[in-house]
Amino acid sequence: MKFSQNDLENIEYIDFHTHQEFDAPQYLNVVSCEPEEFENHNNKAGSNTLFSVGIHPWLLKGSYDEFIDRMRILEKLLTKSNIIAIGEAGLDKTRGPAAATQIVAFSEILKTAVRINKPVIVHCVRFYPEIITLKKQFAPDLPIMIHGYNGKPPLLKQLFKHNCSVSLGLAGLNRRDVPEFLRANTQHLDRIALETDDSNVSVKSVYTRACEVLDMNEQALKNIMKENFKRFFFNDDNAQN
Ligand SMILES: [Zn+2]
Repeated sequence: MKFSQNDLENIEYIDFHTHQEFDAPQYLNVVSCEPEEFENHNNKAGSNTLFSVGIHPWLLKGSYDEFIDRMRILEKLLTKSNIIAIGEAGLDKTRGPAAATQIVAFSEILKTAVRINKPVIVHCVRFYPEIITLKKQFAPDLPIMIHGYNGKPPLLKQLFKHNCSVSLGLAGLNRRDVPEFLRANTQHLDRIALETDDSNVSVKSVYTRACEVLDMNEQALKNIMKENFKRFFFNDDNAQN
């Protein structure tokens, strides 16, 4: 399917990062999967499903050459119009291979993303300084989105400063400090996304929670999410208008 931004007009809820297809009118889902899983997911996907395909740090197995082979498969896939981002990719201090291996892989992924001009959805656990350093080094202007953000406001500020967006699920929204920070700094709302990831909640309930904690009516939130979607995935800088 060729997704047109006009299709957004009928969309109410956007799930910026999920692992399951959920096809219903008014819902748009960005399903994240590994290169080898794409065909299977794509066969099941309806017209309101778009994809991010990447190599998750937990699933970096085998040699460097094997990783490069997987990158070749990934790069071929990225010519498809329904794959709108690379991801998940990133760094995880608590799981996956040694830090050095993860850093080499993530650096390669960032370089590829810059070359083919695709944004990256990032999985990060306790490796934020390294993510920021690698982004500065390899992809300073590339839009990247840290998904499932569940850290404190000072870190959030730092991420915004380095051109990163963050996607929030219920865990992030249920914190007290992050919504408080966003309510006081509404200029940063253009760097926020909403997601369900691998949970069983509906993205609609994530929107409902976001409205409560951000003290915002649902229509205003929906408009912001659509603009953020266009800006992040399609580099549409006129999204504000
Ligand atoms: Zn995920």
